Amino acid sequence: MSSKQSKSDTGNRSQIVEEARQSQAEREKGYRERAFKLFPRICARCGREFSGKKLRELTVHHKDHDHDNNPPDGSNWELLCLYCHDNEHSRDQVSDWYGEASPDTDIKSEALDNPFADLANLLKNKE
Ligand SMILES: [Zn+2]
Ligand SMILES: [Zn+2]
Repeated sequence: MSSKQSKSDTGNRSQIVEEARQSQAEREKGYRERAFKLFPRICARCGREFSGKKLRELTVHHKDHDHDNNPPDGSNWELLCLYCHDNEHSRDQVSDWYGEASPDTDIKSEALDNPFADLANLLKNKE
């Protein structure tokens, strides 16, 4: 057996958060997979082709910007790469897509921006 046994000794609260997070991801994965089955994995705007890991850069755009409107025939979907998707939304100033990028990295780099600033102030005050 190569599969790991998952530990079940953590609290319920984190489990609930995890479940809520997963159901949102699941919903998104659901229409992503269906859209990828319906359409060729090509950006509808720039015509770039996506496969393997790159597939993450191909997103499902909702033509009416309603994420809950997912007709089985795919009439509300358009496959767009991240760049074209961004363009599409910045044009009409509506942002209905999120969750693809992780903003955490920016916050960290800001905190590490000038690690010596405090030290310099301390030394100055001593003089
Ligand atoms: Zn594109
Ligand atoms: Zn969109």
